[in-house]
Order: sequence, then structure tokens, then C-alpha cells
Amino acid sequence: MTSLDDLPIRDDLRGLTPYGAPQLHVPVRLNVNENAYRVPEQVALDIVQEIARALPDANRYPDREFDTLRQSFADYLGHGLRPEQIWAGNGSNEVLQHVLQAFGGPGRTLLSFTPTYSMYPLLAQGVGMQWLPVPRADDFTLTPEAVREAIAEHDPDVVFLCSPNNPTGTAIDLETIEAAAASARGIVLVDEAYAEFAHDRSRTALTLLDRYPRLLVSRTMSKAFAFAGIRVGYLAADPAVVDALRLVRLPYHLSAITQAAAVAALRHSDTMLSRVDDLRAQRDRLVVELGALGYQPYPSDSNFVLVGGVDDPQATFRALLEQGILIRDVGLPHTVRITAGTEAETSAVIAAMAALRAE
Ligand SMILES: *Cc1c(COP(=O)(O)O)cnc(C)c1O
Repeated sequence: MTSLDDLPIRDDLRGLTPYGAPQLHVPVRLNVNENAYRVPEQVALDIVQEIARALPDANRYPDREFDTLRQSFADYLGHGLRPEQIWAGNGSNEVLQHVLQAFGGPGRTLLSFTPTYSMYPLLAQGVGMQWLPVPRADDFTLTPEAVREAIAEHDPDVVFLCSPNNPTGTAIDLETIEAAAASARGIVLVDEAYAEFAHDRSRTALTLLDRYPRLLVSRTMSKAFAFAGIRVGYLAADPAVVDALRLVRLPYHLSAITQAAAVAALRHSDTMLSRVDDLRAQRDRLVVELGALGYQPYPSDSNFVLVGGVDDPQATFRALLEQGILIRDVGLPHTVRITAGTEAETSAVIAAMAALRAE
């Protein structure tokens, strides 16, 4: 037996800890922003049939260009997008990794506005690039001026804008995204993992793609499509950007099973989006009801709410876990992050938070 410290690991990986939110099998899991609903049975059956059709050909490598899936994503996204503008990977995390492999790397920089998605620094580290965190305003909003200023100061190779932002729920307005796209020398990626949960779904950076060839918009099936377990993320951009991503992907990176499952699931986008509407209602309920209890929930366009006014986030986390409810302490002072659940799950977490207030 040896220890990690004894291994000839890369110097820049020494002392790091892997991404790791707890995976505990408690009744109410509201800690990693998963879709609270299971895949509906009729959708699951259709997926199984599509996989069954693909399976006899599993002796062959899958379609390296995943043409059918790209067409499905283009149709789903709309905005006149063509299949050659679509890229996909095993989760949008892999898509983001492809972007950094192609446009980042040693000697280059990734800028993002913090607090934001905790994977960005890890992805940057993994490809040997420097991460540049620029703090947001106290209310976590961003303005065109702030974005222009940060880009002028740091001249980054890649900018990641998370909208709606994890862990704060804050949407970035299109004017601010445009300010980034117009002023950055390098790539600007808008991570729209939670786009379907926004109050105004039409307010997406997809509408800007025509005008900014170095603007990329990433999405995922993990949240809106209740597909976190299958691992499918995707991106829309100029066809030349997609060509660049082809240079760094491993051949046949999307299995035939993954492609079949995603194509089938996308046929049911209406069903899946109606569940998203239920989750948006529970998200709004968290904001209203926790606010009425004296907490300070931040406005959210995603499927979770960052809740301020929490005296001791770790104590709150533990108290709720004792009742079988898992939430997230994201390390921001006096806050916890709570994913919107089913109506019953949301009621349970609100009741538990109310009991803590009463103590
Ligand atoms: C959940 C999440 C993703 C999705 O990751 P997958 O790899 O697609 O599961 C991407 N970006 C943000 C900000 C997220 O919160």
C-alpha cells in the first residue's frame, strides 16, 4: 500500500481534493440540483426501445459524429441552429473540458465571476491553465461595466459565464453577455445548465450566436431532462468551434447507448418541460415561504435557491440531515443552497427550516 503523497503525481495536482458532494441515500435529496422527478415510465419505455434497436450493432463503434443526436439537439434548441453547430459530450462537464482542452491549456487563463460553479477551477487545473476568479457584487449580479472592466484588466483566453449561476441562481442579462462577447479577445462560454428553469426562457444567449463567432452556449440534459445518470451535455456555437472540439475529443466518446437514450428522451421534451414547470413553482415557493420565515432567499432562475440569513450553515446542514433531508453548504457565509423538490419534498424542507427558526 502507498499513499497519494508518495506517488509521482503532477506537482500541480498535489494537495488538491476531488469534487465530492455527499451521495447519501436519505429520503429527501436536495443537494446537487438533480431533477426531483424520476424519468416518466412512458419516456423510459421509449428510451429502452431505442436502445434495443441500437444494441445489435454494438459490435461496431458508434457514430463518431452522432449525426442523429446533433439534429435532435438542433431541433430542440430552435433559434435556426443547424446540426453542424452542435457538440455533445458525456455531461456538460466533459463539453466544458473539451472547450478548455481546445482553447485553454498551459500558459492560458480562464476567467469567471465568483461565487460560481465549483467545477470551473478544477477543469482549468486539469488542463494546466490558470483560473482567474473575479468577485461579483454583494447581491451576486453582474453589469456590462463590471464584465468589460474585468476582461480589460485580465485579458483572459477563455471566459465562463454561468447563467443562471450556480450556486446563486442569478441570471445574467443579455446586455452583459454581449458586453463580454464584444470585448473579449478569446472564447466566451455561457453555461446555461439551468436555462429551462428561467422565468423567461426566451432570454438565452442562443439568440446572440449569429453575431459572435467566439460565443459558445452549453446546456445539459442532467437537470431539465432528469438525465443526470445518463451523462449527456451539449453546446451550440459556430461550426468552426465544433471543428476545434473534434481535435481534442477521444474517438467515439459518445456510446451508442448514450446516443440512443438521448435521441429518444428529446422526443419527449414537452413532457419533460411540463415537469420543469412544476419544479419552477416549487422553486418560487421556496423563495416566498423561506422569505416569510425570515430567511433571505436570493432571486433564482434555476431549480435551486441560495438562502441567506442562516446563522450556522453547517449546523443547519446537520440538523436537516438528521431528518433525512440533504441540502448543500456551498461555503458562502450564512447561506445554504436548497434544490427545489417535488411538492412533498419542498414542504418537508420548508417545515424543517421553519422548525430551526422557531428554536
Ligand atoms: C449541474 C451543472 C452542470 C451539468 O453538469 P453535467 O456534467 O451535464 O451533469 C453544468 N454546469 C453547471 C453550472 C451545473 O450546475
